[in-house]
Formats: sequence, C-alpha cells, structure tokens
Amino acid sequence: MQTKKEKSAATERTAPTGSDGPTSKALRLLDETFEEWRYEPSARPSAYFGALLLSFGGLLLGGGTFALSRISEGAWHENAWLMLTAGLVLEVAFLILGGKPEAAVHVGQLGVAHEADGKLERLAWCDITRVSIVADGLKLETDGKPVLIGFEHHTQAAARVAAEAKKRIPKRVMCDEDELAGLGESRGGEKVTAEAAQVGKSLCRATGEALTFEKDVRMCGNCGALYHRNGVPRRCTECSRKLKAA
Ligand SMILES: [Zn+2]
Repeated sequence: MQTKKEKSAATERTAPTGSDGPTSKALRLLDETFEEWRYEPSARPSAYFGALLLSFGGLLLGGGTFALSRISEGAWHENAWLMLTAGLVLEVAFLILGGKPEAAVHVGQLGVAHEADGKLERLAWCDITRVSIVADGLKLETDGKPVLIGFEHHTQAAARVAAEAKKRIPKRVMCDEDELAGLGESRGGEKVTAEAAQVGKSLCRATGEALTFEKDVRMCGNCGALYHRNGVPRRCTECSRKLKAA
C-alpha cells in the first residue's frame, strides 16, 4: 500500500507539464498532499484554576441538590440552598474565566491555521502582509483582522511561524535577527499531512480571472498564491519565487 509521502512524490512525478500543468517544481496542484506541524496549546496556571472551579462547582451543585431532596426544612435546608448557589456561581465563573479552550495551531506549506470547532481556519503565506513581534505574541497582519500567535500558549508555534515566514515572505517580516533568535529554535509540533482548501471565490493573482475549477489552479509552492494555469507569471507576484522558465 502506498504511503501518503510516496503518493505525494508520485503525484509530483506524474504531474502534467506544458500549458496543462505545472511548468516547474515551484508550482503545486491543489490535489497534492501537503505537510505541516500541529501545535497543541501549552497548559497555563489558569487552566488548572478553571478545572478547580469546574470540579468544586459540580460538587456543590450535586451535594446541594442531594441535600434538598432529603431535607425539607431547618438549618441544613438553608445550607443546601447556599451550596446550590455557590456551585452555580463557580460554574458561571468557569464559563467566564476558563471555559474557552485555546486552539491548536498548524504551520506548514499551506500557511498558518487555527483549529476551530473541528475545522481549520487557514491563512496562506501570501495573505500575510506583515509579521511583527508584539508584547504578547507574533502578530500576523492581513487585509482583514490580524492573527496573533500568543506566547502564553504557543511559544514553539510562534518560533516556527516566524522562521517559515522569514524563508517564504522575508520582505514582510519586520523582525531583526536578534528578535527572531529570541523566539527560540523552530522545533516541536506533530508532523501531519494537510489538504488545500477548496478554491471557493479565489481569483488568479496575476490575471484576476475567477478560479472555478480546481484542476485549472496552480499554486506557488512557496507562498500559496493561486493562479489560473493559463495565467502563471514567470515570477510569483507575491513572493517573487521563479515559477516558470523564461
Ligand atoms: Zn509565491
């Protein structure tokens, strides 16, 4: 049975050439398999605090309900109501302070992605307009809302994103060598395979032509910019990587 890696290599070998296919290895087809690293968020003290709130809140709610079902009056009846109220307060505090888990981050050939409700929200390298280090993380600016890879949960992912951005879109990285070194080495993460997102409403970066059919789309293997197969420029308009011979 063919592994995914072998399958990917086979795809590259058998990829068509000429006007119907990639003209150099710098171009990728969307049905290929891509690689990336997945980073789980690191635990933080407030996560343990949240677990404590949840546990104690649950105990108080359970104990209060049990006591109320057995005792109908007297001091312990009032205590049971107090337990129920305190349990409810702790559960609400958990929802406000520690209820939302931090998302895992993916970094690789297809860009940077956050896991959200079982799906991946992707940001291609070519869509990142500026990379900088701010107080609490690595800031990725886009035409829309900026994305923050926070140091609190994602120190290693931030280092990987910065290193990959420096290789792929160096002109957009506003950090000097010392700042990048301060993020630490590019390491950790779990190696996973990834599939490109559907083209949706994308336009060819060179001609503006609508990319309707996946088989007509060619992707810059360096920054993820998408082109119509008939509109591939000599150099990528986003990262300047050479895409085809003169
Ligand atoms: Zn490119």
